[in-house]
Amino acid sequence: APPAASALVDGLNPEQREAVEYRGPALLIVAGAGSGKTRVLTHRIAGLLESRDAWPSQILAITFTNKAAAEMRERVRHLLGDGADGMWISTFHSACVRILRREADAIGLSSTFTIYDSADTRVILKRIIKDLDADTMGFTPAGVQGKISKLKNELADADSYARNANMNDPHEVMFVEIFRQYARRLRDASALDFDDLIGETVYLFRAFPKTAALYQRRFRHILVDEYQDTNHAQYSLIHELTRPVAPELVDEMESQGLHVRSLADSSGSIPGASLTVVGDSDQSIYAFRGADIRNIVEFERDFPGARVVLLEQNYRSTQNILSAANAVIGNNFDRKDKKLWTAVGDGEKITGYTGYTAHDEAQFIADEIEALHRSGVDYRDIAVFYRTNAQTRALEEIFVRSALPYRVVGGTKFYERAEIKDAMAYLISVANPLDELALRRILNTPKRGIGPATVTALATFAEQNEISFRQAMRAAAGLGLGPKVTAAITALANLLDEAALMLVPPTPPADAPADAPAPASSVKVSDVLSHLLTGSGLLDALRNSRDPQDEARAENVDELLAQTKDFDKDNPDATLVDFLTQVSLVAAADDLDDASGTVSLMTLHTAKGLEYHAVFVTGIEEGLLPHQISASEPGGPAEERRLFYVGITRARVRLYLSLAMSRAQFGETNVALPSRYLQEIPEELIDWKQSPGMANSRGGTGPRALNARRQPGADRWGSSYNSDRFSVAASTKPARAAGAEWPNKVTAVRDNGDLTLDAGDRIRHADFGEGRVTQVTGEGTKKVAHVSFDSAGQKKLLIKIAPIEKI
Ligand code: ATP
Ligand code: MG
Repeated sequence: APPAASALVDGLNPEQREAVEYRGPALLIVAGAGSGKTRVLTHRIAGLLESRDAWPSQILAITFTNKAAAEMRERVRHLLGDGADGMWISTFHSACVRILRREADAIGLSSTFTIYDSADTRVILKRIIKDLDADTMGFTPAGVQGKISKLKNELADADSYARNANMNDPHEVMFVEIFRQYARRLRDASALDFDDLIGETVYLFRAFPKTAALYQRRFRHILVDEYQDTNHAQYSLIHELTRPVAPELVDEMESQGLHVRSLADSSGSIPGASLTVVGDSDQSIYAFRGADIRNIVEFERDFPGARVVLLEQNYRSTQNILSAANAVIGNNFDRKDKKLWTAVGDGEKITGYTGYTAHDEAQFIADEIEALHRSGVDYRDIAVFYRTNAQTRALEEIFVRSALPYRVVGGTKFYERAEIKDAMAYLISVANPLDELALRRILNTPKRGIGPATVTALATFAEQNEISFRQAMRAAAGLGLGPKVTAAITALANLLDEAALMLVPPTPPADAPADAPAPASSVKVSDVLSHLLTGSGLLDALRNSRDPQDEARAENVDELLAQTKDFDKDNPDATLVDFLTQVSLVAAADDLDDASGTVSLMTLHTAKGLEYHAVFVTGIEEGLLPHQISASEPGGPAEERRLFYVGITRARVRLYLSLAMSRAQFGETNVALPSRYLQEIPEELIDWKQSPGMANSRGGTGPRALNARRQPGADRWGSSYNSDRFSVAASTKPARAAGAEWPNKVTAVRDNGDLTLDAGDRIRHADFGEGRVTQVTGEGTKKVAHVSFDSAGQKKLLIKIAPIEKI
């Protein structure tokens, strides 16, 4: 055992300490939420460095988000001070980009390859589907995208898929053709999609053992956080990286001047890297992306002799929060029961809240946050979670009105805005001239009078002459296009060439010694972008536009320019490609600026691994949690339950669970039902608060009580929807046929029976006071009254459940 590095193991419990100090080929740490897995990983890295068992460059740590990577690096630095540079702490994707940019040549890729996001991918698939008339067979870009992604996560390509598919089925034949064309177009554009980043790296390592050997001998310690969420491709990548280097390769590397023999064992090979993985199968929430919890279960089989460490003490949450989490997750079958405990004590009860509408719910949350803030809780230590991004609308509306400082983590979608994508497409076209998608995007942005016929002419010319789209642009003069169009295309091609030249380092002075380093280019990403925006007229077009929205668009482009300036300042040696990579890898959980002093709003998926003093889990309704889409899939409700478990276990001190009785979704307002998961939490743990409009209801105010009143004698919710097998699709969407609606469930919360309202009627609302009906729209349970309240303004209310009466 290494000498105990006291500072690093002080305060750790014996199991945590064992995991930090273990030295051997394989270590598996399995433990529930908040038991210190990530902390152990961080201390283990610091320990390896401090005990000199590893150099920083020999460590590869994989985290799930860039943010988690930055935090881990920061913590190791905090534990060790300097001397931690050269470590790779990154996500799977960034590690792979780094490797691929270096080794691109080997697999016939330009090192400036573009990374396509999901929107780019869909544009390409849309075009292919249209070209092949595949839409008539029911193919949609989103559907094909999902299927291709799943296959790539399994390391399949079009050919391997075709070998196993039934090629007598025209549908399958068509899918294979789409898949093939998709792969070809990406290759032609020197572009990779997100799944390719992993898949191509695995391919690189398998096809080029010598290249693989460089990384296998470099990384001596590989550590993976959130291992339960790795998919097959990621699993394979780890497998490749931890392979031993064969004696022949060791000899070859040695003969090429790489001093590697000292790493070899008596057999002459370099043993595989030591692997540490950390995970919690109860927090596996990415099965839809192909994550496979068997990776954890089968770790011991894959790595015989692995040490397994279990952590059981939770250091994050109060007992009440833990008990709720344990109770919920206990309903999943097929899991090992964990005995999580905490020394913190019971703490406060969980607060439950049922609002009439999503706005009610949001108002409650805003009020509670203010109360927490007044009692001394920092805004930044408060988070609000939801299942779908659409739920932010009501929250943001109320938060803005309440002047609550907040930020939507990963939801700003700054880089998905059209004007930002336009500006980025200019930069991409400079970095990767093969990227046809980017070129097509900027060809007529801003408007230059270049229409679809011209684009087709260019594309056809490129294809016939086997040249790139960009080269076709340069040859525009010979294409017989109109003079104005030709001039516009040539001007654009020239602008891109100019910008590319700006990036070429200046030639060294003639009298410089031959081996002197080339002088670094002083041109920055911001200079290039600024040149492109001015030269293309993009920014002016937005600024001079009469469309009021263009003002905001111009501001966004200015913001992008400001970001490139910051980037240049923070990364003086970085290149344009580095900037593009960074933007591409800004994953859901990452914001470029990590504003402090604000409440964080994020999806439950994004919340993984984080912790807050106070946590609000919102929209705990059937159809949202479990989500309608997952509910009907095998394993769906169990995965959604894990998602809920992840949400609950983020809370340290205060947990709030809320829902609304009606919610607007997909443009319709629907009656919402309490989630089946709520009743899995023992009643005594939750203190239910009511919606103001329910002030006169008797006998408790939680959804359970409300439901009980609807079903006399029942003290539990109907067993029909407490089971995972119950189809949520059927339970949350009112069926169209009369009488087939969810009989005593639609109305689980409040029921105005067959109350009818007509325009002109006066009503009284529990919250908004008196008002006049101006219009009635919709049918059946979805009938909506448009009401002009005397003091509360205009509102739309679901007649069936709104707290209203005719007066
Ligand atoms: P998750 O499953 O949610 O990712 P985790 O198992 O990775 O959780 P950590 O985030 O590492 O847990 O730790 C949870 C909290 O408990 C952190 O605030 C951490 O600093 C604290 N903690 C962990 N171990 C100890 C310990 N031995 N003493 C004091 N605090 C600890
Ligand atoms: Mg963790």
